[in-house]
Amino acid sequence: MSDITIHPSVEGGVTAGSDGFNGGTLRCHCASDKVEVQISSNVAHNHACGCTKCWKPEGAAFSVVAVVSRDAVKVTAHPEKLKVVDETATIRRHACTGCGVHMYGRIENKTHPFYGLDFVHVELSDEKGWEEPRFAAFVSSIIEGGGARPEQMDGVRAKLSKLGLPPYDSLNPPLMDAISTHIAKANGVLAV
Ligand SMILES: [Zn+2]
Ligand SMILES: [Zn+2]
Repeated sequence: MSDITIHPSVEGGVTAGSDGFNGGTLRCHCASDKVEVQISSNVAHNHACGCTKCWKPEGAAFSVVAVVSRDAVKVTAHPEKLKVVDETATIRRHACTGCGVHMYGRIENKTHPFYGLDFVHVELSDEKGWEEPRFAAFVSSIIEGGGARPEQMDGVRAKLSKLGLPPYDSLNPPLMDAISTHIAKANGVLAV
């Protein structure tokens, strides 16, 4: 089994979310004057992500990231501490300038397949019941991020599978199909 830490929230096994759970408050890691973001619904498509852009806690090879409607996301404390990490990225990740934690990522391009959804890390909340991670995306990218050596990848994929997080090297099939469907409709290839 791999000795690579996937993410602290799944190392001991994935905890299932609760039906009827309807949100909570994300807080950054600053000791005081924490940025707070209120999420007024449960999340969807929660997953472990190995890409090099998502925020990961110390020592983790993966982030755990989910989506939620942008209408359900509200900054409720210290918005002045937030700054977009990379203005050129599709997902504008709003990070705390004090501790570096990403509080939410937002897509402003209205033609993007995921426009209307924000990306959030539910581990920043004390509330229990958030939808659990259900797959792992961009697994091969952890090599680029320095999280694993190529020869460790079989072990990483075996560990993810055992945790109930089927590993994919892009997004999972439902999300990849959703992206292609959106593009095919936009291009007139697929009748709306
Ligand atoms: Zn902070
Ligand atoms: Zn990512």
